Amino acid sequence: MNAHMSPEEFRRHGRQVVDWIADYLANIEPYPVLSQVKPGEIRRSLPAAAPERGEPFEDVLADLDRVLLPGITHWQHPGFFGYFPSNASPPAILGDLISSGLGVQGMLWVTSPACTELETVVVDWLAELLGLPAHFRTDGPGGGVIQDSASSASLVALLAALHRASGGEVARDGVTRRYTLYVSSQTHSSLEKAARIAGLGTAGVRIVDVDPDTLAMDPSRLRRLIAEDLAAGAVPAMVCATVGTTSTTAIDPVPAIGEVCREHGVWLHVDAAYAGVAAICPELRHVNDGVAEYADSYATNPHKWLLTNFDCTVAWVADRTPLLGALSILPEYLRNAATSGGSVVDYRDWQVPLGRRFRALKLWTVIRWYGAEGLRAHIRTGVELARELAGWIAADPAFELHEPHPLALVCFRPVWPGLSPADADQATMRLMERLNAGGALYLTHTKVADRVVLRVAVGAAATRREHVERAWALIREEREALAAGR
Ligand SMILES: *Cc1c(COP(=O)(O)O)cnc(C)c1O
Repeated sequence: MNAHMSPEEFRRHGRQVVDWIADYLANIEPYPVLSQVKPGEIRRSLPAAAPERGEPFEDVLADLDRVLLPGITHWQHPGFFGYFPSNASPPAILGDLISSGLGVQGMLWVTSPACTELETVVVDWLAELLGLPAHFRTDGPGGGVIQDSASSASLVALLAALHRASGGEVARDGVTRRYTLYVSSQTHSSLEKAARIAGLGTAGVRIVDVDPDTLAMDPSRLRRLIAEDLAAGAVPAMVCATVGTTSTTAIDPVPAIGEVCREHGVWLHVDAAYAGVAAICPELRHVNDGVAEYADSYATNPHKWLLTNFDCTVAWVADRTPLLGALSILPEYLRNAATSGGSVVDYRDWQVPLGRRFRALKLWTVIRWYGAEGLRAHIRTGVELARELAGWIAADPAFELHEPHPLALVCFRPVWPGLSPADADQATMRLMERLNAGGALYLTHTKVADRVVLRVAVGAAATRREHVERAWALIREEREALAAGR
């Protein structure tokens, strides 16, 4: 039987694990980026029942190599161009390890004052690094909080918006009137999910048309839709504007949308999950135009492109009162002098779950290791490589580039002469599948104007120019092979 792991055993296995991770990151290139296993393959390689007797830790590490690695899609691979990046970095890994080591549950200030106060400091730091307004800072009327995901941030924003729009009635009586949420066809699916969770239902989600070229929300359509809903007796609760949509990184016109929200007192949430962190570079700060003037809440994900291991979404509100009104409940077993005294932040009131991890540690280790300079260099590398790739695509008549491409995502479509749109889309999907089966890269697709386009999202920490060049060479070769019927 294994007793608790002794400090000496932990030291030994801990070193093995850190060595394992360092070797993995140093030697990641030979792995196929996209896992090539079939459904059920990993499960079948694992015992159906848990062991009765404890096992040596070395056996676990051996299975990590033998069984699990083939089933890993390598998000940190320099050839990973799918979805959006999900950056990990050694300082973030170490920060997360310290969080695990402390084993702190930071639901209240009193359950670990440092967990709360470090979080306050790093979210305020990040607000300043991104050029966000002073009222988002904790010493102002608002404040920031680390959530597990942008999806949670959207849900929490919607709950605060409903609280404000209903004068607190929703918290007391539930949803009794018809509240509406405004999104575009390009808005992330988590907003519709938030509407369902909050009791608005899919019927409460109003979809605003986008500009057919830029795919950005059309503010005049928003104005018309809100007027129609008001006339029909609905209560417009929240508009979600997106800075950098998931499909193509379209940027909704936040200032114009904000004007419409202000006219009707509607909460404006800005979802900048992927793109928001780019504002750390002064030359990209324009992505947040209008946020300072109009946003009631704003969220961005350091866990995508800012070198901080999942999960780490930072969400800010301009005014914390409706948020706390929507989510604070104080049962007897959580009562304590610090909370009652009102001089501390209890982040449990800023999120859906009660319990919370010490996530601030990894953001702190990342910001301190890289400094603002290092973080800017990483963002700039992605943007420059993507710009270069876009140039190659634009110059090649066998491909059509989707514009605009404001950050590090490039969308494009191969041209298939002589094929109908439907057949061309099928050929594009086949091209993608062949590329992804090749192992050297992984890219994903979306649809623009109902046509399939490929997405190359640059931004993994390991990606250098040579990897983007190689990806482009492979894309061209495979397209030619397919077009020639090979
Ligand atoms: C990725 C993304 C999300 C979802 O992020 P999670 O943190 O995984 O919930 C939401 N909105 C946009 C615009 C995104 O790109």
